[in-house]
Amino acid sequence: MSRTPRTVKTTCPYCGVGCGVLATRHADGKVTVKGDPDHPANYGRLCSKGSALDETLSLDNRLLYPEIRGRRAVWDEALNLVAKKFTETIEKYGPDSVALYGSGQLLTEDYYVANKLMKGFIGTGNMDTNSRLCMASSVAGHKRAFGTDTVPGCYEDLEQADLLVLVGTNLAWCHPVLYQRIATAKEARPEMKVVVIDPRRTVTTDIADLHLPVAADGDAALFAGLLSACVSGGALDHDYISDHTDGFTEVRDRARDWTIDKVAKATGVSARDIATFYGWFVRTEKAVTIYSQGVNQSVAGTDKVNAIINCHLATGRIGSPGMGPFSVTGQPNAMGGREVGGLANMLAAHMDFASEDDRDRVRRFWDAPALAEKPGLKAVDMFRAIEEGQIKAVWIMATNPVDSLPEADRARAALAKCDFVVVSDIIAKTDTSEWAHVRLPAAGWGEKDGTVTNSERRISRQRAFLKLPEAAKPDWWIISEVAKRMGFGEAFDYRSPAEIFAEHAALSAFENNGQRDFDLSGLTGLDAKAYDELVPVQWPVREEGTKRLFGEGGYFTADGKARFVAVTPPEPVTPAPGQFVLNTGRVRDHWHTMTRTGKSARLSAHIAEPFAELHPEDALALGVTPASLVRLSNDNGSIIVRALLSDRQQRGSVFVPMHWTGQNAAQARVDTLVTAITDPFSGQPALKMSEARISPVTPAWYGFAVARQKPDLAGVDYWALATAESGLRIELAGLETPADWDAFVRNMFNIDADASLLSVHDSRANKHNFALFEDGEVVFALFIAPTPVPVSRQWAVGQIAEQHEDQTRARILAGRPGADMPDAGAIVCACYQVGINTIVEAVVGGGCANVDQIGAALKAGTNCGSCRAEIKGIIDANRLQAAE
Ligand code: SF4
Repeated sequence: MSRTPRTVKTTCPYCGVGCGVLATRHADGKVTVKGDPDHPANYGRLCSKGSALDETLSLDNRLLYPEIRGRRAVWDEALNLVAKKFTETIEKYGPDSVALYGSGQLLTEDYYVANKLMKGFIGTGNMDTNSRLCMASSVAGHKRAFGTDTVPGCYEDLEQADLLVLVGTNLAWCHPVLYQRIATAKEARPEMKVVVIDPRRTVTTDIADLHLPVAADGDAALFAGLLSACVSGGALDHDYISDHTDGFTEVRDRARDWTIDKVAKATGVSARDIATFYGWFVRTEKAVTIYSQGVNQSVAGTDKVNAIINCHLATGRIGSPGMGPFSVTGQPNAMGGREVGGLANMLAAHMDFASEDDRDRVRRFWDAPALAEKPGLKAVDMFRAIEEGQIKAVWIMATNPVDSLPEADRARAALAKCDFVVVSDIIAKTDTSEWAHVRLPAAGWGEKDGTVTNSERRISRQRAFLKLPEAAKPDWWIISEVAKRMGFGEAFDYRSPAEIFAEHAALSAFENNGQRDFDLSGLTGLDAKAYDELVPVQWPVREEGTKRLFGEGGYFTADGKARFVAVTPPEPVTPAPGQFVLNTGRVRDHWHTMTRTGKSARLSAHIAEPFAELHPEDALALGVTPASLVRLSNDNGSIIVRALLSDRQQRGSVFVPMHWTGQNAAQARVDTLVTAITDPFSGQPALKMSEARISPVTPAWYGFAVARQKPDLAGVDYWALATAESGLRIELAGLETPADWDAFVRNMFNIDADASLLSVHDSRANKHNFALFEDGEVVFALFIAPTPVPVSRQWAVGQIAEQHEDQTRARILAGRPGADMPDAGAIVCACYQVGINTIVEAVVGGGCANVDQIGAALKAGTNCGSCRAEIKGIIDANRLQAAE
């Protein structure tokens, strides 16, 4: 092992901000991370997730060897089997009987090789990706308006704008470093206006000058009305419209109907607030509209994207500093996937199935024997085809569709009956890998090497700084090996990601001559060393990188003009009586299905349980009390989660996070409830607009446990696990009281009859506490009560690895911290583990009046800054009390 620490410049593997990370491997093998001060996405910042990357590198639950039907195998055997099964299936049923479902977690080089194999050599378009669930509507909207899938601006525009419109994006939690850049810019220029358009009053609204709580899907009407306001308010850029666009008249005429009163009716927002927003937009030249999943994940997602773009085209506010429509992607390499054709309806290097020239060009470049002639099946349809037996062999890479696809139980059933399922992953046990015939161990972050592209078209290197563990291999290697075994050896004889990138760049430049947006001609000559040293750069890269496009027109359509797209705003979603609009999304400190962030105790402390966020008045009407359990159900399924009452939520709506799976909760897979309806243009599912009933669950008992290891939770009606320092914290509940508590607990924790289990019982109050110690350390402690258990979670998790004498054992059994250990409450600051009660005390008792004063007193909010918006909310909520 090297004795000197080695620091590598890489990128964060989570969201589409694409922050640069300095990862240092120390002499003792430990890894530390910090933000890369030179990376233009983050200039040294990292959010809570990025800051905790070093806590997610353990090999726990890693898939380290190939497996065939659960049996450990060697690579040759596993690869031969995959190649044989795919070949046989294609020979018998044709190329469209196989499919590949990838992920925005794949590096561009992995994606490139996968796409080449499926579309160029196997000859099917059936390669899609989980990016379909994330931003396919933005892709479709861009292509309709610009002719290509091009994001016109850059992150600097968000800081330079005088008006920032955030639509359907909880940037503070989902793209925290971008949020911090905006918050800092607004602090420096308080005159910069921020408008947040979101049904929920998320923490992002804490920096908003105006929040428009639109009804679900009301944003299309809002932007139709905005175009009309731009016409009547004199904000049109007539030169830009005539020189660089086409189709304005029809769009203008269609928008004319959308008066403020009509928009108010369609959105549920007051006419006064709408008029304020429109007035600001009309008068402010430097305006950026940022949008993400709240816009994309809708049956009208593509129309909504075009309704936004129409306003920017009409005012000429595009492609110049501080102006433009700006789609931010959810995943770290959603953009890279789009570049190589990772979506079923795209070819490669932004070329199109619809163009015979493009098909011919790609065929010749690859010398492809069987180039697919038509788009393949998009994610939801792909899994329908698996369900119906048309697709008989599927290869799933770096994603967990059994949890993330709408009607997730149908996706699970489809895989259960599929003839041949291959899963490449870094994780041994996921809800998806359970159904795999073959599991292939892939390289994870820190081990793999390649490039990713962030939301501002910036290509950055993701570099390895760890050895591949055991038999794990990079995805590009795995795919190439299967391709060779299928007889395509020459075309897949890659020795490094550098060679793949060189080919990818060459394809982008092939017969391009400035005709196509995706052009890396300036990077085609990179040798291995230059590739290794590649600095972040924004495509197109001809002589050099490109910050912005379209400021002077130059769209990639036949006539070089952008297209206005006339849209018909959908009726806002109005749930049937007794139903709620079900909105799904992310929380601050977790990523997707938690396979990595779930390993960090710090990240798990912020929100440790799946929840349903409900308006307090709806809760009252339903008989739901704070912290009780609720069931959400519809024809697709049913889940049980904790009730979180908050007036940030609109009445009639409920928000449930997407992260909890069958691995960490009993019944919290929210996508089992989501109806699989999709946008007609993009095929993106409407993940934010299903309907569900809500009813209170009345458990006979609630429980809370801390434990060194996972107990046997089969038969427990409700449970949710979270990683804690040195063990786990577990929330539990049961619908029936066990006849014998001692036997129930011994069984759950697998304790011998002679082990000295400590317990105290208050049977009249239905309270029972248990604890088991080994060599003075807690093996587990369990607290049972008839209502949600009032034990301090932070205190309890801190006891797991401590040594305990008789007196503290008694305290643990009683579930009570000593007077010298006040309850910090739920963790707000993940970096310094500062709880809400501590912050409230600093406000009420300590006189802290702003976030900086809290930082000075408690350090909270002074590292990654992800919690600053929440701290501000806590200060605002408690300031009154402090002043009394
Ligand atoms: S904002 Fe956070 S999660 Fe996103 S790339 Fe940056 S550090 Fe990673």
